[in-house]
Amino acid sequence: MSPLKKSEELLKTLHLSEAAHSLSQFVKQAETNESTYLSFLYSILEYEQKRREEKQLEKRLKWAAFPFQKTLDEFHLEEQQSLSQKQLNHLRELTWIEQLYNIILLGPPGIGKTHLSVGLGLEAINQGHKVMFITMGELVHALKTQEILRKAQTKMKRIRTADLVIIDDLMFMAMDQHEANLFFHLINDLYNRSSIILTSNKAPKEWGELLGDPAITTAILDRLIHRAEVIHLNGDSYRMKHRATIFTEKV
Ligand code: ADP
Ligand code: MG
Repeated sequence: MSPLKKSEELLKTLHLSEAAHSLSQFVKQAETNESTYLSFLYSILEYEQKRREEKQLEKRLKWAAFPFQKTLDEFHLEEQQSLSQKQLNHLRELTWIEQLYNIILLGPPGIGKTHLSVGLGLEAINQGHKVMFITMGELVHALKTQEILRKAQTKMKRIRTADLVIIDDLMFMAMDQHEANLFFHLINDLYNRSSIILTSNKAPKEWGELLGDPAITTAILDRLIHRAEVIHLNGDSYRMKHRATIFTEKV
């Protein structure tokens, strides 16, 4: 075996597979540039580390299961008067994740709740956090089927190990007692170990109706609101304002 081949095999054995994969290129480059031994060594180690970080980021993004990828920079604050630049900057710093604060985003449909939650989720991933996005409908389904479905089990495991769990469209549908109970247990499990972003088009005082049981609703609300920032978004639907039309004039 050639020294190159042998080195590649050894790098692989030592779990430096990215370096192994690109070794011949790095050697060629070093020869052309007449690099020093040290700068050759450094460049290959640096490459291995950079690729690892990139792969980790890709993995976390996939793991998060966002419905779309829209950043906070794509969120137009001038369209959303109920959130100031200062507030958004504060949210972007993500100290609230370290402090286990929850964010509750309220407001009518089309106002940007999901966009904001995804934007914050992306920011969190870039800062090294584990994030999981799930709609309330999917969550209830996963909670109910986790004993029997492998896929649901995986989802629930991801939720339980995430630093930030985004639960989108809370109370879109009414829950029965069993579902409300399962939801309560999840919130209780997450309470002292992760942050939650929750979006809803219903005010918390209306949640009781949909959850059915007032005692469970109070218990859930207690834990969610204990350390939470509640943000009311209002105004007109961004979707409606910016909708595509087949006529030249919007009606
Ligand atoms: P909600 O979850 O409140 O129903 P979405 O976040 O799904 O609303 O927003 C609907 C659409 O409008 C999305 O495509 C979103 O990117 C866009 N949108 C809403 N508000 C804004 C905003 N302030 N700036 C940029 N795009 C926005
Ligand atoms: Mg939404």
